Amino acid sequence: MKFLNPARFLVLFTPLCSFMISGMLNADEKAKQTFRTALIYDDVFLEHDTGPGFPEHPDRLRRLTKHLKENEISKRLMWVKPDEKIDPLPWIHEMHDKKYVAELKRACEAGEKRMHDSGDTPISKSTYEAATRAVAGALTAVDLVMEKKVTNAFAALRPPGHHAMPDRAKGFCFFGNAAIAARYAQKHHKLKRVMVVDWDVHHGDGTQEMFLEDPSVFFFSVHQYPLYPGPSGSPDIKGKGAGEGFNLNVPLQAGSGDAAVIKAFENDLAREFRKFKPELLIISAGFDAHKDDPLGALGWSSEVYAKLTEIARGLCREQGHERIVSLLEGGYSEGGITEGVRRHVEALEVAAE
Ligand SMILES: [Zn+2]
Repeated sequence: MKFLNPARFLVLFTPLCSFMISGMLNADEKAKQTFRTALIYDDVFLEHDTGPGFPEHPDRLRRLTKHLKENEISKRLMWVKPDEKIDPLPWIHEMHDKKYVAELKRACEAGEKRMHDSGDTPISKSTYEAATRAVAGALTAVDLVMEKKVTNAFAALRPPGHHAMPDRAKGFCFFGNAAIAARYAQKHHKLKRVMVVDWDVHHGDGTQEMFLEDPSVFFFSVHQYPLYPGPSGSPDIKGKGAGEGFNLNVPLQAGSGDAAVIKAFENDLAREFRKFKPELLIISAGFDAHKDDPLGALGWSSEVYAKLTEIARGLCREQGHERIVSLLEGGYSEGGITEGVRRHVEALEVAAE
């Protein structure tokens, strides 16, 4: 009898074995092997207590996570908490004055109720912790994508970040989650060009301020205009000094609906994206342009969040990658924070064409 060559035996046996093993795995275990999208969330984000009647409240995240878990998509997501090993403080200091960061910590610990005497930045004992963990969540999302553990990631975090200024809290925001994530991707993961796309109904004035003179981070924003925070969202603001040409504001009229933003993405974003060739896309994903939102009036459908996601993914694919880190900003309606977010996350998770 002729003995089977061991090498040949392995060639025959290994695929048979892996077929048998894969046949034995249940659907959940199979899904674990092929996660495309991470969902970063931590209950600590609920601890930032803004008081009764305030639009940016913990129930936003309770509704969001409940809705996702009631839907099929939940099983296809890699649910993760912010990485405990990440110390967010040095990265917060990259974009914010140390004095302001220390003052926020002190005010929270002292039990004060608001920052800078401003009614739009209420704080509680746990606000500092929630805000630093939100930054850690954004950095975890960057790590997971850069280390290819997933294709892309969505971080369901609060407090939001895009109005936060280098030296102060503003508009429900304390630390610039998207801006800090962009700088982290550059300094920790050695990327040269990062783009931040902000589709919150409000202009991301904090993010714009942080990168106004920086040609290595392109800031692109679509927003209702005029609206809070005011003139920062003007299309005339295109960057300063070395950053000239690396900032684009596309103002949208109240009631302009899905068609206007899709056009802005297909024309303005596509043009700038192809010129800039970002190695990572960070989305400041607000859902307050949704038709149900009490603060915005752009009238977008839930479906448009899937469409915008598809356009963004397509632009990344042209650059040979699909690295997207999406961070929750605003969104104050049930429809926006549940269906809008779900359509966005489903469009992130779906297999590439
Ligand atoms: Zn907003």
